[in-house]
Amino acid sequence: MKLYEDFILRDHYDVIVVGAGLGGMAAAGLLAKRGLSVLMIEQQNKPGGACTSFKREDHIHDVGAAMLYGFGQKGFRPFHFLLNELEEPIDMISHSTLARMNFEGKEIIFWPDLQRFIDELIELFPDEKEGINAFYSDLYKMYENIVIKNEVIVPPSEYSPRQGLRRLINDPFSIIKMQKLLSTSTMDLLKKYFHSPELFNFYDKLCSAYAYTTAEETPAVLAATMFIDNHTGGVYYPAGGAQMLPNTIEKAFERYGGQALYHQLVDEILIEDGRAYGVRLQDKTEIFADRVIANATVWNIYGHLVRPRHISPDRLEWAQSLIPTFPSMTLYMVVDREAIPEDSFPWEIFIENRKIIDSSDLTLYINSLVDHSLCPPDELVVMAISPNFCSWPHTDDPTYRSPEYEDQKRREAERMIDQIEQHIPRTILT
Ligand SMILES: Cc1cc2nc3c(=O)[nH]c(=O)nc-3n(C[C@H](O)[C@H](O)[C@H](O)COP(=O)(O)OP(=O)(O)OC[C@H]3O[C@@H](n4cnc5c(N)ncnc54)[C@H](O)[C@@H]3O)c2cc1C
Repeated sequence: MKLYEDFILRDHYDVIVVGAGLGGMAAAGLLAKRGLSVLMIEQQNKPGGACTSFKREDHIHDVGAAMLYGFGQKGFRPFHFLLNELEEPIDMISHSTLARMNFEGKEIIFWPDLQRFIDELIELFPDEKEGINAFYSDLYKMYENIVIKNEVIVPPSEYSPRQGLRRLINDPFSIIKMQKLLSTSTMDLLKKYFHSPELFNFYDKLCSAYAYTTAEETPAVLAATMFIDNHTGGVYYPAGGAQMLPNTIEKAFERYGGQALYHQLVDEILIEDGRAYGVRLQDKTEIFADRVIANATVWNIYGHLVRPRHISPDRLEWAQSLIPTFPSMTLYMVVDREAIPEDSFPWEIFIENRKIIDSSDLTLYINSLVDHSLCPPDELVVMAISPNFCSWPHTDDPTYRSPEYEDQKRREAERMIDQIEQHIPRTILT
């Protein structure tokens, strides 16, 4: 053991996890519970990655993920599984409605009851009634028979090759169908059921609101999960802010003996003879382990953390061929309670131009409508997200945070605020 800053580092770990996003934390927590010595290293000063919150004065703002799936009693429920495994309680608020979309002036509510939602969709697109019914009926079957049956959340210690083989023999079609769903796009699937371009536009917007991808870019397996799962398992919010979720996982992780090192950037994954044996931090400290799990982006892993000499040309070409989804801009706001209409939903989506995905697509997360601990009673905390196609400098570009950059940010923020005020005219934003 050695003292690293004020942290006691072991000479060797079973596993090092790079990145304390929800993915890395889930792996770290489950491995620690199974008795392995695990070190999780995160560059930020808290866990959660894209699922964190920050506090300003009396207001708790969520940074990213805030409408969460997978906590329900039914359906695809990875978080339900994870928190049960970790034996850590968490207080989740279940949303009674999922979302409301204003689609070029037409309103559609995403009711938890799937049939009620389908009826509403048919009212909006009456000419596609048959296709809509057939699409959801088939999608539901895909979800039940393929997605749920192929849940990949069984830990390796519980998954035996014999079991896998038995599943392949007993139910070969579901595995083959899963492979097919993985390689089919949502747009290809939609084309089997619909004719109206308006409906293709609607699902394009839905994919964009859920996953920041177009229907063409979204694998059909994700459509089967996104379009059905929230009607089956529900949508949840961690009471007290999104940060409560990573905090809860971290608490269990540490209870099982795991160590979390914050504010440290991993610069390289150390590899010899094709095997990772540790990491080197930015300050050159080396830490050793039998295994390394990287929760960083694919571009970071293959573009930096794993040095080129360890990557086969095919793998490198594959990583470089992956295109990031379109960028977005997020505003964290506090508004007067009375400015938001009483009948507003915690998740409001406004689509002004159905034909293209552009900066007029606006999503508001208003979880403070259901969680009153986020701000004083006469106010609401609102997060607004919208695609943004301006050219923005990278964080290592000298113009990042320059006066011009700040000006551009202010102009774009004002544009978004004007747009919100067109939908909610009484909004007085602070
Ligand atoms: C604005 C926004 C809104 C979203 N809303 C929703 C939503 O409502 N519902 C939903 O289900 N999903 C939502 N998502 C998606 C969801 O947040 C992500 O899918 C999920 O949090 C990703 O988790 P992850 O662990 O894969 O990655 P990340 O959260 O990105 O975690 C990766 C972590 O690794 C760390 N890291 C990377 N490289 C290094 C390194 N070299 N050294 C040390 N640390 C490193 C990063 O700092 C980060 O903390 C949203 C995402 C965003 C951005």
